[in-house]
Amino acid sequence: MAAISSAPGQRLAASAEVSAQGPADESMTGEAILRRQAQRESAARTYARSLPVVPVRARGMTVEGADGRRYLDCLSGAGTLALGHNHPVVLEAIRGVLDSGAPLHVLDLATPVKDAFTTSLFETLPPQLAEHGRIQFCGPAGTDAVEAAIKLARIATGRGGLLAFSGAYHGMTAGALAATGDTAVRGTVGEADARITRLPYPYDYRCPFGIGGDRGAELSARWTAHLLDDPKGGVQPPAAMLLEPVQGEGGVIPAPDTWLRTMREITAARGIPLVVDEVQTGVGRTGTFWAVERSGIVPDVMVLSKAIGGSLPLAVIVYREELDTWQPGAHAGTFRGNQLAMAAGTATLRFVRQHALHERAETVGARMLSRLRGLAAHHDCIGDVRGRGLMIGVELVDTEAEPDDYGALPAAPLLAARVQQEALRRGLIVELGGRHGAVIRLLPPLTITDEQTEAVLDRLAAAIDAARTATRGGTV
Ligand code: PMP
Repeated sequence: MAAISSAPGQRLAASAEVSAQGPADESMTGEAILRRQAQRESAARTYARSLPVVPVRARGMTVEGADGRRYLDCLSGAGTLALGHNHPVVLEAIRGVLDSGAPLHVLDLATPVKDAFTTSLFETLPPQLAEHGRIQFCGPAGTDAVEAAIKLARIATGRGGLLAFSGAYHGMTAGALAATGDTAVRGTVGEADARITRLPYPYDYRCPFGIGGDRGAELSARWTAHLLDDPKGGVQPPAAMLLEPVQGEGGVIPAPDTWLRTMREITAARGIPLVVDEVQTGVGRTGTFWAVERSGIVPDVMVLSKAIGGSLPLAVIVYREELDTWQPGAHAGTFRGNQLAMAAGTATLRFVRQHALHERAETVGARMLSRLRGLAAHHDCIGDVRGRGLMIGVELVDTEAEPDDYGALPAAPLLAARVQQEALRRGLIVELGGRHGAVIRLLPPLTITDEQTEAVLDRLAAAIDAARTATRGGTV
């Protein structure tokens, strides 16, 4: 592919439109746009701070900036772009709706486009959920679907409590934020919700019980069951347990299958609906179509967004019909009928299934993990390499610091930020995450080619070397 045979970060002659425009219209250069953004946009902006790129064109995994530089995009819209940018089937589906004269705004009315989306989505879901499942189209973002799931569970059970996990990320609106583990982002707005019980998520590398492995996960499960059964445990009777099968923002932490099965047993035995947030893990990302398939658990509610809209905003919950006790209008919203997103989503779901891209995610992901582990063997600043499918994390640690009582080195967020910048200089966009922002996250599209895979790993390795040298030289 031309995108990666060109030297990374180079100005490309082929990107004539923008480059040629540059000198003619100084106000529209990438630099000018970034300057205006810094002046006009909110202090809360995020990716725009660490990734000063002004995308003007994108195809597959390649993004081209206004300065003509090209990047391999391992951020993929925070895990949204299962098929990469502007995949032909997605564009065709969007054009199909535009050319058909169908209305673009329909609230939650039935349309052929929506009907096709629902059918395609249900075909992918665990049969036990699909057969007796209901779907609620929510406001356009993942966080809105999380709100809907919590509300549904509270109404259906008549209970107010919620079980959520350390390291969880569920979104930025009040309910979802309260369930999120990051107290820094919650700040004073999302103050601790007394109805939420925070449980330990099994994090092998930094095990809350100091032992890791199967035993660490077992203790996390035991703590959960014990707390729920302790009449003086202080737990408000829970409406639901909300979990991510692989924590994304929390640092790419895959939950062991046995732990997931135990969570299913614990909740089923106590009549607590299990809500699985597959906003980031869905549509093939982790090597199975839905991450829950790996452990075989069937949730009571699945929260879906990101990739299901084929790059456009779409969010739904799918749940067991017995829970469908809320009243008309209980979760309303003006923007629940995005026809373009539904068409793009249908095309994406079908393409991933037809081409078994989840299997490709598994194979390529395994190859990437193995090469990254090889890299870790020669770089002591790489504390851990982990992931599932094409959801991969590389946790960086501070080798100069003292290990804790259990032998783990502290996280190295400054080094990680430096790696991100060095990667960008080499034409690679990566995301940071994790408890301390020290995890390099790779979320390439499932369509990544072998050649692109190698290029990503080469660029990342070079970025880690460069960042390490710079940190040693005291320039961080
Ligand atoms: N749940 C999970 C697991 C997520 O990763 C995210 C977004 N990163 C959300 C919910 C919230 O989605 P959105 O940003 O679309 O509101």
